[in-house]
Amino acid sequence: MSKNISIAIDGPAAAGKSTIAKRVAKALNFVYIDTGAMYRAFTWAVMEKGLDCEDKEASCSLVGKVSIHLEEDGRVICNGVDVTKEIREPRVSSNVSYIASYKDIRLALVDMQRAMAESKSVVMDGRDIGTYVLPKAEVKIFQVASVLTRAKRRQKENEEKGIPTTLEEVIADVEKRDYIDSHRDFAPLSKAEDAIEVDTSDMSIEEVVDAILSIIKEKTGVEPCR
Ligand code: C5P
Repeated sequence: MSKNISIAIDGPAAAGKSTIAKRVAKALNFVYIDTGAMYRAFTWAVMEKGLDCEDKEASCSLVGKVSIHLEEDGRVICNGVDVTKEIREPRVSSNVSYIASYKDIRLALVDMQRAMAESKSVVMDGRDIGTYVLPKAEVKIFQVASVLTRAKRRQKENEEKGIPTTLEEVIADVEKRDYIDSHRDFAPLSKAEDAIEVDTSDMSIEEVVDAILSIIKEKTGVEPCR
């Protein structure tokens, strides 16, 4: 059997990583793993218990007690509950970066992420995939775009999901998360030395997907399935 291949796509909040990663995975017939959804699900579980996400000790007390499943159809199941929609709501978005800054929680989720990448070829998106989770990934992409572009895209996505938000709210959320994510002590958001930066500000989704598929072909020889 041929060797499993890992593609890491990192970058700041709302850079369109999941849209692109999903399409790249589909084109290659790889499994898509949304690690942000795992941090969001853990955050939902902390809030569901009535705990304060800014309370590190209380939040970390749930390590080992939260089950998270990423279904193939994109649904996210946490402690047996379908939380696919809830984890995109502003109350989760505005707390997730606190949860993601706690080392014990990260270690637990990283174990799950590595296990998922062990047996299959994957496209995994997040903040620390190329630097920490899968440092040996065959291809590392660091996807960026201006704050305004990112906020406008995210607001449109929210609208489509029936989650009302203003542009100002989304800009504030994106900037706050980027700050916390890149300033935490353990596995912060940063570009791996061997990552290729793709600025998507002036690119369509198709253009970004094609650019990334070309990079993957060049680095691994793997081409989209027809
Ligand atoms: O990707 P998404 O924006 O859904 O991620 C939500 C949050 O989860 C990020 O703002 C970050 O705090 C955290 N995260 C992380 N490491 C990852 C993926 C997400 O810290 N690999």
